[in-house]
Amino acid sequence: MRIDDQVQFLKGVGPARAEMFRRLGVETVRDLLYLFPRGYEDRSDICPVLKLESGEKQTIIAECLEVRVAHWKNVEAAFADQTGSVKVVWFNAAYLKDQIHPGKTYRLTGRVMLYKRHMQMQHPSFHELGVAGEEDEAPIVVTYPATEGLQSRTIARAAATALDCCLGEAPELFSPSDLKRLAMPSARASIKDLHQPTNLKKIAPARRRMVFEEFFLMELAVAMRRRNARRHQDAPVIPVSPKVDEHIRRRFPFALTAAQDRALSEIVADIAQAVPMARLLQGDVGCGKTVVALYGVLAAVAAGCQAAIMTPTEILTEQHFANIEKYLVGSRVRWLLLTGSLSTKERQAALARIRSGEVDIVIGTQALIQQDVTFRNLGFVVVDEQHKFGVLQRAESRWRNAESDKPMRPHYLVMTATPIPRTLALTVFGDLDVSVIDQMPPGRQPTATRWVRPGKALEMYEEVRMEVRDGRQAYVVCPLVEETDNSDLKAATEEAERLQKEVFAEFRVALLHGRMTSEEKHAVMEEFRTGRSQILVSTIVIEVGIDIHNATIMIIEHAERFGLAQLHQLRGRVGRGANSGMCYLVADPGNDIAASRIKVMIETTDGFRIAEEDLRLRGPGEFFGTRQHGLPELRIGDLIADYDLLQLARDEASALVRQDSDLSRPEHQEVRHSLLARYGRTMELIEVG
Ligand code: ADP
Ligand code: MG
Repeated sequence: MRIDDQVQFLKGVGPARAEMFRRLGVETVRDLLYLFPRGYEDRSDICPVLKLESGEKQTIIAECLEVRVAHWKNVEAAFADQTGSVKVVWFNAAYLKDQIHPGKTYRLTGRVMLYKRHMQMQHPSFHELGVAGEEDEAPIVVTYPATEGLQSRTIARAAATALDCCLGEAPELFSPSDLKRLAMPSARASIKDLHQPTNLKKIAPARRRMVFEEFFLMELAVAMRRRNARRHQDAPVIPVSPKVDEHIRRRFPFALTAAQDRALSEIVADIAQAVPMARLLQGDVGCGKTVVALYGVLAAVAAGCQAAIMTPTEILTEQHFANIEKYLVGSRVRWLLLTGSLSTKERQAALARIRSGEVDIVIGTQALIQQDVTFRNLGFVVVDEQHKFGVLQRAESRWRNAESDKPMRPHYLVMTATPIPRTLALTVFGDLDVSVIDQMPPGRQPTATRWVRPGKALEMYEEVRMEVRDGRQAYVVCPLVEETDNSDLKAATEEAERLQKEVFAEFRVALLHGRMTSEEKHAVMEEFRTGRSQILVSTIVIEVGIDIHNATIMIIEHAERFGLAQLHQLRGRVGRGANSGMCYLVADPGNDIAASRIKVMIETTDGFRIAEEDLRLRGPGEFFGTRQHGLPELRIGDLIADYDLLQLARDEASALVRQDSDLSRPEHQEVRHSLLARYGRTMELIEVG
């Protein structure tokens, strides 16, 4: 057997079990060696039966005296060693009767309780001793991430076989001197210790080592991708002269904030180079990112390039469109909207204008990255809320020059209002440079947040009524309900009807939901924007980017069903103008996590703190609410708990790339091989070397 052979051919596995292994992500012997146990239990501490104490989990070695099925299918047994005897019970487990035999000796581990004045061991795990070949079973029992039909014990046996045949082939990525400097054990010793620890103390250093290795490869992939992207020197050079700068600024009816200026100067420095910019523009909702992005767009247009703005939803596309209209009215710049809802004819006409260079700015949804879109001279791309798109890379290879059919390398500016917690900044977004806008435009009032229990809404409605009478507007957001397809729609529809009839009869209540056509949505938004309706009941479609200054009230129904990032985004919709905002979270948090989310919302409006809390509460896998977050599946590392190792790995990886940028040196071949094996395809590193 070799390390890259299919696990199916391992002794004791076979095709049926191989299928179950596949469900755990294990295809080859190598995968199995890197499938590490989740838990360890030391059962070596044997307690004489006489010394058993109630309350604790303990292990005994004892002979079975008798066993019977009692009421409720409980199995009751008596066990004894030289010091005494003890009753053992397994609840509702009649099937166990055939697995436990009087006269045989077992190791039993379980909690001991005082029951009717006798010690009783309850529902212990048990292991028969004296079975051929299993006497030498290790005293530390490991638990693997089992899946249906594949028990932890079966995995342990397969892992033992794999260790026997192939551990010697496991790659060592670090030189002895590096290992010494890092104070880490070798890979082989660590893998062995993780699967078959002889002592609990060996687990932590072994785990540390393998987590480090996993992070190191991931950070190396990020560093290589970053290097790859910047290796090209064929992006358009976009200089910004003082005259151009003045022209662009004149388009905005306000002075930019210091934070906006800082972000701008970083962008301007980037696009003056032929190395394509890859920059993330981060800042809380309403801080003025769009204006900064638009500056970049106009600079590109002034230099004779086309620019594209990509958004996750049609509503946002229209909003950007409206913004551009607002700022550019009367200028010579030409722009158009490219969305999925154009007719074939309209789309063809739009594509022709993009191809010939008759338009300067194209605003659109994912429709922009479809195969048939060719630009004449694309120089600058704004991606709004990138994580909703999945990985940016998908777009890159799509854009081709209309004449030469060569790939075009525009400058990229990615905007996000979901602050990126520092761990993700080192991973998913690690190949982007970052600009942060950490200041709000002047005159903004903070939004207060209040928790309202369902059934205590009357007071809230009165406050809303006062505000709306004063000329303000309100959003009411209803959550997506999972059970049936249409229930979210129904919830929002019913809520709108109820509010209109029973609560706010004197106002106009409008409804917006995800299943409307874009014309319908557009009409509803226009009505709200112009103040013809005062209260907008909506499903989550308004989550991102909507910008209506007069809306100062946000009511979020069933706030317990929303994630923190979503709540923060929603709240950011109000308090965008000169009037302060008010956010009501109507919630009945049934569990602690929901309650702590709501507490965080009340305590802070700091997006970065909220993002870190969100990541902590939900875990990185769910942080983006989609499998397309671009974060590699981790086998052993934990981005939050092992943050120190992540930083160390980042430092080591960038040091290596600085030394040997394409990993061509002989001593780096193990690293190169492992990197390509793990990330070659997903991170598009195949070009390496
Ligand atoms: P973001 O995209 O970060 O959510 P926007 O760029 O949409 O923020 O700006 C939010 C609102 O603030 C917009 O209405 C915009 O016109 C306004 N705004 C942006 N920058 C400034 C500024 N420097 N001074 C005053 N208002 C600004
Ligand atoms: Mg915006």
